[in-house]
Amino acid sequence: MTSLLSLSLCDIRDKLAREETRPGELVESCLERIAATEPSLRACLTVCADEARARAAELENNRPSGKLPPLWGVPLTLKDILCTQGVRTTAASRMLENFVPPYDAFAVRRVKEAGAVILAKTNLDEFAMGSSTEFSAFFATANPWDIERIPGGSSGGSAASVSAGQAFGSLGTDTGGSIRQPAGLCGCVGIKPTYGRVSRYGAIAYASSLDQIGPLARTVDDCSLLLRVIAGYDPKDAQSADLPVPDYRQAAAGAADSPAPLAGVTLGLPVEYWREGLSPEVESACENAVDAARELGASVKELSLPHLPYGVAAYYILASAEASTNLARFDGMRYGLRSGKGDKLEKTYSASRSQGFGEEVKRRVLLGTYALSSGYYDAYYTKASKVRRLILEDFERALGQCDALLAPSCPITAWPFDAYTQDPLTAYKMDILTLSLNLAGLPGISLPVGLGKESRLPVGMQIMGRAFDEEGIIRIAKAVESALPPLGPPAALAGILRRRA
Ligand code: GLN
Repeated sequence: MTSLLSLSLCDIRDKLAREETRPGELVESCLERIAATEPSLRACLTVCADEARARAAELENNRPSGKLPPLWGVPLTLKDILCTQGVRTTAASRMLENFVPPYDAFAVRRVKEAGAVILAKTNLDEFAMGSSTEFSAFFATANPWDIERIPGGSSGGSAASVSAGQAFGSLGTDTGGSIRQPAGLCGCVGIKPTYGRVSRYGAIAYASSLDQIGPLARTVDDCSLLLRVIAGYDPKDAQSADLPVPDYRQAAAGAADSPAPLAGVTLGLPVEYWREGLSPEVESACENAVDAARELGASVKELSLPHLPYGVAAYYILASAEASTNLARFDGMRYGLRSGKGDKLEKTYSASRSQGFGEEVKRRVLLGTYALSSGYYDAYYTKASKVRRLILEDFERALGQCDALLAPSCPITAWPFDAYTQDPLTAYKMDILTLSLNLAGLPGISLPVGLGKESRLPVGMQIMGRAFDEEGIIRIAKAVESALPPLGPPAALAGILRRRA
């Protein structure tokens, strides 16, 4: 039964189509895996066992006679920042500990309509602010490759759940790297779509001009399939793009079979991404992948994105500024936990926010409020907005000279718990390679390219492309994926399962 869990989403889908398995069997296998791994991993905030079983039964009783919808019977998990009708959605915050949304996020509705079964809501850094999932108000999630280490973040629960075989795919959000970085650290594939490609309706907002929902799964094909389901126009998101959605999987098909699938493709290596701060093992695994791309026919050239070094500073001003306004609604009156400590309105506000928000969220709200305050607005917010423009122009110039840009997804492999929780500045630098792409609003995919020579932990590489050219980066990712040996099951998994048995 458990061998089903090592299959890719696309393989499971084919098995379902051939009636070699049933939604009910898959749900039971996944729930069993969740029960066996959760004591060690803590990837899930809410497991929806009853709902998942009922849904599987409903699907089985109404099996369509013709072609199955794209995700029919496929168990998925969802980052707990995506609203799910009737299922608690916490954003990993005490503030929303008991929030049960009356509606589904657009992307959630889409996967449900496509036939998916929702198994669990996964852990994250509170309101998606962090890069290790240690800032969840409830508990920290462990990496299935080494349970003494973080899974990355903020979509760390989603990445861990996919990597450990709890589900065949997951949806996360990426504001500054929160899909690509945990996907990289857990050995999964993750896509951050172009800003506007996927509706943000029903995703609890962190920084609205940067947030994007995207898939995490085990293969490029799996992510392509999920992306196709969730992408598309939604009038409820003012920034949603009214553009046709290609069949991404189809676009990448053929890449695996052709002897030189990347012939005619030019890949750019921005020197700023490769220059400093990379651990030697990350650098060498990614260089190996670049060599593989060369062998597949791509030409590779170095280029420069001169404003990239200012990305971290600009991002943390802008993201915190937006967060401070987005989180203003959680005051115990309009939304969120209400403290019993205040006897007056102002006191209720401050007591509710003091109790409801964790340390990292408070830090961001303070930083953001400061950056937006009169007298400092021009010095910080306006300046950061200008830098954002320059970074976008850098990307556009670079992508005018090549088809896609390559860079590692994270400077190091997964780090031990608590390594940076007391050192926010160093922690902020863990997104140095991912967050500029959000400032530019462009798409990126993170792909596992091997294990670090010393750590034996997964290394991810990003492929970043032009606006709305997810197809292009998926095609390149698929070719590179086919040329590299698979990572195999996460190293700690066998031990976790044995301990349980
Ligand atoms: N680590 C970054 C931050 O804390 C990015 C998080 C994200 O993409 N949600 O802002």
